[in-house]
Amino acid sequence: MPVLSTQLLVIGGGSTGLGVAWDACLRGLKVVLVEQGDLGQGTSGRYHGLLHSGGRYVISDPTSACDCAVENRVLRQIVPHTIEDTGGLFLATPTDPIDFPDRWFAACQELGVSAEEITTAEALRLEPALNPRISRVFRVQDGSLDSFDLLHTLTAEIKRAGGQVWLRHRVEKLILNGNTIVAAEIRALDTDELLTIGADFFVNATGPWAGQVASLADIKVPIALGKGSMVAMATRPIHTVINRCRPSSDGDIIVPVGTVAVLGTTDVEVQQPTDTTIEPWEVDFLLAQGEILVPQLAYQRPLRAWAGVRPLYRPTTGELGETRELPRSQIILDHADRDGLQGLISVFSGKLTIFRLMAEQVMDLVCKQMNIAAVCHTAETPLTMTSRSFYKLPDRLAKLEVTTSHDLPQVVCECELVTRLAIEEALRFASTLDLDEVRRELRLGMGPCQAGFCAFRAAGIAHELAPTAPASGGLTPFLEERWRGMVPLGWGHTLRQMELTRRIYLELLQTHSLPEPTK
Ligand SMILES: Cc1cc2nc3c(=O)[nH]c(=O)nc-3n(C[C@H](O)[C@H](O)[C@H](O)COP(=O)(O)OP(=O)(O)OC[C@H]3O[C@@H](n4cnc5c(N)ncnc54)[C@H](O)[C@@H]3O)c2cc1C
Repeated sequence: MPVLSTQLLVIGGGSTGLGVAWDACLRGLKVVLVEQGDLGQGTSGRYHGLLHSGGRYVISDPTSACDCAVENRVLRQIVPHTIEDTGGLFLATPTDPIDFPDRWFAACQELGVSAEEITTAEALRLEPALNPRISRVFRVQDGSLDSFDLLHTLTAEIKRAGGQVWLRHRVEKLILNGNTIVAAEIRALDTDELLTIGADFFVNATGPWAGQVASLADIKVPIALGKGSMVAMATRPIHTVINRCRPSSDGDIIVPVGTVAVLGTTDVEVQQPTDTTIEPWEVDFLLAQGEILVPQLAYQRPLRAWAGVRPLYRPTTGELGETRELPRSQIILDHADRDGLQGLISVFSGKLTIFRLMAEQVMDLVCKQMNIAAVCHTAETPLTMTSRSFYKLPDRLAKLEVTTSHDLPQVVCECELVTRLAIEEALRFASTLDLDEVRRELRLGMGPCQAGFCAFRAAGIAHELAPTAPASGGLTPFLEERWRGMVPLGWGHTLRQMELTRRIYLELLQTHSLPEPTK
């Protein structure tokens, strides 16, 4: 079994783990990060898309509110290309508790979370699709943040700074020497090979899997898993983040992200990090709540539903109950202090908006324990936009428009304006022919037809680039994943789209008889 060594091994390639690895690289440490899937396959790729202003937590969690307000400003400086400055509104409706807006506004002022009251007429001028029956409106500094773009940017920066990011590598065993963790046994999932990485320190940043990974060192971390479902509408009737101004509850937010508006979210306790099944009642509930704020959503087409799983710390054992009541602030467990085990810190919960701060807090602790005097530089170090990332649809259109007519690029995904060249580059850069990986990088198949027309073209390109690949170019798993998000919304126009896609693939192309990659 090959044995490698490093100073810091980070387990988990979501926003938290990548943030830790980036911070560590800037402090001069030798870093390896291992991720069992692709970038964004955990909660970081299945979230709501909100760059928090802090407004949502001023009553329930003042510390998180302040952290979000500060980090909102920091991220706008260091990763502006991943953020759309939508602004946000908090709306009270006649059915919400009448005293809440005043309490909420006072808390914003006390905590330094920027908020100003505007008239309902001004709000309706800004966002004509809002329910005209709203009673009070406040403007905040919310935004939307493209997490796929952020994760790719962080990965590029880590590599540029000399760190390593290994995708599709799973930590399966933690090896102890007395009361110190000294190495991890890792499986390369593409080849099934095992290897060992020795490290001076380990950070467990595996989000909803944090309890499972800690248990590899015989440590119990009590985590409750709260699944939240979201629905993306095929259009964007509002261009500002819309929050409901009432005590925190389900179904109280709409976030415009890219070309869609995302309704969220529910909170249901589940047993496994992979349990992202969406119940019909969740879809009905989210649509009904969304329509209270933006009535015309009733006539719009829901495009896709998905769910993410939140790890929540529940130190009191034995209770099962409402995960919404558990705190959502970041948890950093120093296992030397807590369990007498040297060399391991677990970090989970929190928010994507504060990933940088969480990483700074973790690395301060790691450096203290390793006797390293380096300080954090992430708050004042802008990240460079990766050369191939241009997610914003208008930017893609502008790029296509300047191309001269005799040099027209072939557009493979018309909904998201993804060109053949971009797919070829992404496939060459990727370590597998996984079209879902290309989707996370380029938004391939994420638009209104949900890959109905682009999947077979992209699979053809994948097959051309790697003739040894199976004839389907990974088509079926890609389509199945798209299908999963449409099934909970299978009525009306969405059902018509699904039927069209089914006929293209099963009846016209007969794709069910194509060979598929062996895992
Ligand atoms: C429904 C929902 C909506 C949310 N909306 C927002 C929002 O709008 N704004 C906001 O700021 N925050 C939001 N959050 C919170 C935010 O998404 C999370 O705080 C953040 O994404 C957590 O990132 P993470 O890196 O800690 O975990 P993850 O992104 O889950 O990353 C953990 C990674 O560890 C990997 N892993 C697990 N086990 C192993 C192993 N053995 N070996 C190697 N790798 C392993 C997993 O594959 C995974 O990729 C939301 C959360 C949920 C659930």
